[in-house]
Amino acid sequence: MRNPDTGTARTRPSGAQGGGYVCVTFDFDALSSWMARGMLTATPRSRGEFAAVAVPRLLHILEARGIPTTWFVPGHTALTFPELTRELAGRRHEVAVHGHAHENVAALEPAEERAVLQRSLDALQEVTGELPRGFRAPAWDLSDASVGLLVEHGLRYDSSLMGHDYAPYPCRTPDVLDEAGVRWGEPAGLLEIPVAWSLDDFPYLEFLRTPSGLMPGLRDPGEMFANWTADLDYMLRDFDHGVLTVTMHPEVIGRGHRLLALERWLDEVASRGVEFVTCEQVADLVAAGAELGRYRPV
Ligand SMILES: [Zn+2]
Repeated sequence: MRNPDTGTARTRPSGAQGGGYVCVTFDFDALSSWMARGMLTATPRSRGEFAAVAVPRLLHILEARGIPTTWFVPGHTALTFPELTRELAGRRHEVAVHGHAHENVAALEPAEERAVLQRSLDALQEVTGELPRGFRAPAWDLSDASVGLLVEHGLRYDSSLMGHDYAPYPCRTPDVLDEAGVRWGEPAGLLEIPVAWSLDDFPYLEFLRTPSGLMPGLRDPGEMFANWTADLDYMLRDFDHGVLTVTMHPEVIGRGHRLLALERWLDEVASRGVEFVTCEQVADLVAAGAELGRYRPV
């Protein structure tokens, strides 16, 4: 088998059809997501503050295993924790953008969305010295203007949509949906690296009481990681070069019992022979012509 990245020979992972990739991503929301919920009192602020306590723990775990990851950082977080944000980039993790103050871009007017995107890009560039190449929408929703704005600002990929589980795909100009059916948009020059709520630690683990309801969370992290492993095993069995993308939040995964479970999961994933990649590396693979996530059941 040839590695689509380098053209060099690559060992076929045991039990796998055609190898696979795992993208470990973190959303470093810190105080911004509590601000976006209007939860501005001392304890929600401190929950956001805990994200910064957890980041060095995560970097230690990742570095011990040589795992590159992608961190989606709101402009507000970068300005609040510039040293930590620079450390992410300095330790060769990818820093991508995640709104400015965790805005729901689908609820913004196009002019507001443009201003927020520019502000967030300026903040990341000021802190890291580099423009990010990827975007993830806070709350995982895009407006009809988002894809065009991301292309216009030079972003290479988005990671907010749920149209596949193992295959990155082209983002489209807005689809038109009415009672006659759907008129699909055209490929817009931006790659989608899809996500899923079932591959996000927040709904499994975080206890949240808001005016709109209660999210119980607080489940056994082993149960969450077992689901993620099963998704990986299905991918490795039936897909060639699939990409499994998981999302975690430092303030959620950064507690002791969850970190121990994360360590066990990373070691289990590594034992499958997959390659850990950043989102930007996925974009590089696609740009080089790799077909990722081809369904080829046994
Ligand atoms: Zn977020």
